[in-house]
Amino acid sequence: MAETIFAKIIRKEIPADIVYQDELVTAFRDINAQAPSHILIVPNKAIATAADVTHEDELALGRLFTVARKLAEAEGLEKGYRLIVNCKEHGHQEVFHLHMHLLGGRALGPMLSITND
Ligand code: 5GP
Repeated sequence: MAETIFAKIIRKEIPADIVYQDELVTAFRDINAQAPSHILIVPNKAIATAADVTHEDELALGRLFTVARKLAEAEGLEKGYRLIVNCKEHGHQEVFHLHMHLLGGRALGPMLSITND
């Protein structure tokens, strides 16, 4: 797969507001935040999409959730939040390095946009 900008962020070759990193995942603030807290949690291994995961990825993918929980607590999202993984064209995925969005800090409304684009 082609390398994305997220691989460079993980390797700290380009700047990003990294809020967490361990041997399996990296989390950094989205450059175009859609909510007061908008953090991307990314496996360090470059998996292109949710359609490309294998059983070998289960530890790293599970880590996305435990890190999301810790970051949600750190961000003070006790009223709740949303975790999103967009997949390929119909999921409106823009960066083809699998990532989980953590969004919170305001009421987020219904899950899906009513627009068609
Ligand atoms: P997707 O649509 O693929 O699920 O989400 C990609 C996200 O990556 C978008 O919310 C976009 O704002 C964010 N993003 C794209 N390029 C960069 C970047 O260079 N730095 C950071 N921090 N976020 C980025």
